[in-house]
Amino acid sequence: MAGDVVIKGLMEGVDLLVAVAFVPSVAQEARRRHQLRPVSAALLAQAFASAGVLSALQKGTGRVNLQLECDGALRGLFVDAGVDGSMRGYVKNTLVEIELGAAFRWRGALGNKGSLSVLRDIGHEYYRSSVELTAFDLARDLDRYFELSDQVKTAVALSQAARGEEPLGAVAGVLVQALPSGDVAALEALARTLQGSLDAAVADPAITDGEALFTRLFPGLVVTERTAARFFCPCSKERTLEVLASLGRAEVQDIIDTTASTSVTCRFCATKHEITLVDLFGLLERLGAAPLKS
Ligand SMILES: [Zn+2]
Repeated sequence: MAGDVVIKGLMEGVDLLVAVAFVPSVAQEARRRHQLRPVSAALLAQAFASAGVLSALQKGTGRVNLQLECDGALRGLFVDAGVDGSMRGYVKNTLVEIELGAAFRWRGALGNKGSLSVLRDIGHEYYRSSVELTAFDLARDLDRYFELSDQVKTAVALSQAARGEEPLGAVAGVLVQALPSGDVAALEALARTLQGSLDAAVADPAITDGEALFTRLFPGLVVTERTAARFFCPCSKERTLEVLASLGRAEVQDIIDTTASTSVTCRFCATKHEITLVDLFGLLERLGAAPLKS
């Protein structure tokens, strides 16, 4: 089985850009690292699929951040995705496991008030835009995000389905966006059936990778770009020490005086970085002064 992937294509004639993200391994890795209960894991999985298709709209080598804040049990989530296919993310509450029926499926987790923000790295600066949650469904609220913030006709669908015992066996997103010369009527027609088509394809056990999904949804469409996706966090002990150094000498001295060592857990990947007394004295030295006399 091929790995996770983000695939782009172009519907010629109608000038619609197509992006498909298939990211079950990323979602499963995040669930394992953060020890997520089922609903926390499912919503983070949707966010990875969303970030995957959003990253396909990026030019160059930038990153896309998707942030959701809400007053429901989940409280919020954050996903960071690169054009290079690297993805990482977390939820604020890892323990959500109750999902409601039918139309109100995610309502308990997301609550009654919240916002969705997309932060895009556009070269030397970041472009951030937010919308209030109204549908409390990530795909529908993303539709609204595109309508209000981007003002570019876009349709989004997200879906996930089990494969055997694995509830996140297939996790996928699809995005169709009109180019400036795009046929908006063709996009609107496509948008009406997009979620249903994706749900049907994702539910089909024969769809085991992104290529098969892309071909099922857009038969005959030529792939213009294919990027392998993976869970990846660039954090390290060295970077953690940089963060501690940025707190300043007094703060480092305080850690030495009070705890003698510390561990810092990365929010994005749950890796625990152990910082020893030797590391802390090294930091003090680098910060330009000898350790204070005790
Ligand atoms: Zn990390």
